[in-house]
Amino acid sequence: MKFDNRTTESAVKVYAINKVAEKVSEKVKKRLLKEQCQEEPKFECASINGELVIVTSLIKDTEHGVRVFGADLVRYLDANQHEEAVVELDHTFEKKAHRIAFLEGALLSTYRFDRYKDVSKSSLKNLLIVGVDFLEEEIAQAKIISDSVAFSRDLVNTPPNDMKPSNVVDAFKSMADEKVKIQVLNEEECSVLGMGAYLAVARGSKSNPKFLHATYKSKKSTKRIALVGKGVTFDTGGLSLKPPKSMLNMKSDMSGLAVVLGVIIAVSRLDLAVELHVISAIAENAVDGDSYRPDDVVKASNGKTIEVKNTDAEGRLTLADALVYTEKLDNELDYVIDIATLTGSAAVALGSDFAAIFSRDRKLVDSITEAAECQGEGVWQLPLPKSYKKLLKSEVADLSNIGSTPYGGAITAALFLEEFVTTSNWAHIDIAGCDFNNGSAENCKPNGALVPLLRTLTQWVKEISDA
Ligand SMILES: [Zn+2]
Repeated sequence: MKFDNRTTESAVKVYAINKVAEKVSEKVKKRLLKEQCQEEPKFECASINGELVIVTSLIKDTEHGVRVFGADLVRYLDANQHEEAVVELDHTFEKKAHRIAFLEGALLSTYRFDRYKDVSKSSLKNLLIVGVDFLEEEIAQAKIISDSVAFSRDLVNTPPNDMKPSNVVDAFKSMADEKVKIQVLNEEECSVLGMGAYLAVARGSKSNPKFLHATYKSKKSTKRIALVGKGVTFDTGGLSLKPPKSMLNMKSDMSGLAVVLGVIIAVSRLDLAVELHVISAIAENAVDGDSYRPDDVVKASNGKTIEVKNTDAEGRLTLADALVYTEKLDNELDYVIDIATLTGSAAVALGSDFAAIFSRDRKLVDSITEAAECQGEGVWQLPLPKSYKKLLKSEVADLSNIGSTPYGGAITAALFLEEFVTTSNWAHIDIAGCDFNNGSAENCKPNGALVPLLRTLTQWVKEISDA
């Protein structure tokens, strides 16, 4: 879809109800005015001076309200097979952030994963916007965000037979521009670094693990940030095999990785003044004669030993070595944030609209939560009680890879990760449960991969770089 000023007679006109209220029928007016302060905009066909137009209810005057409006508008036009539309926008769009959000919503709603299907493409080709002037850079910024999100969603949606660790690396290399330096460590190099926890997980798969470290360094950077993503390209559960239903959509167990790759692509294209490291210990958790077992004891690269009590708690083993590696980077980091589809417990606690965030740094939690609110993405803090550390006790190793009770699993997973971090400026985000939409598409959310918090973390990095 393009935003331009080339339009034809056949373009449908879109107005806000407050602009044309006196010109439309009482029936349409009543219906739309009733919807006024709702979360989502409504659209109605109406006739003005014999011409067919689309009238919309007033939209919520917030950044995300405008984003949802852009998305719903494009979905409506597309569903009604309009190829071109002229949209008259009002004062709601005077704020720059609102204009960008509108364009983002419009573009995000056009995402489809149809690479494996022969389907007709969307009908809407051109959107002409009048009443408000959009700057070139605003359109560019919205495109950077929606392109990064689409790239990351494609990574997750691609079937796992075509998205093994090496495929992720290749796809990222072809998308990232030269400002992003990419380093990939193979199995041997990881072994030299003592990454016994990560390599144990990878052992059961014929697809070789790839440890990815991407760096973007602006000349104007004053802050150093590392984002660590869980990158399990498919999770069978290993020998602690998942039941068939729970194994469906486990291609999305690399959502954390997809998110951090999308963030570095967006941050580099937006030229933000920051030093950003993106790290992931990429592997597939498969079943094989050489798979790691329950009862095994593995050693992470900080020297800590871990008793494996469940091979399906593999994400934290890969993250443990990724976090140790991150903290060994030459320069002192201002923030370390990991993001992972880590525990079903996070999904049980918070449902599909909120990710769980864990940190001892209150300011860090607040700044990420505020960015999420702007982006219409949910984040909610869960505690890191030291008293729960005893649940990770092992009789044979320094710690166990799962908690000793069935409760509070998202918390014990976060406490496990904390054993591999020394900085206090660390946050862990568990996106299990809000990473994938099995239902139909709505506003900015397509069916399939959602890559939650990609936009939030990009905005958060921007705020850090602006500060
Ligand atoms: Zn697992």
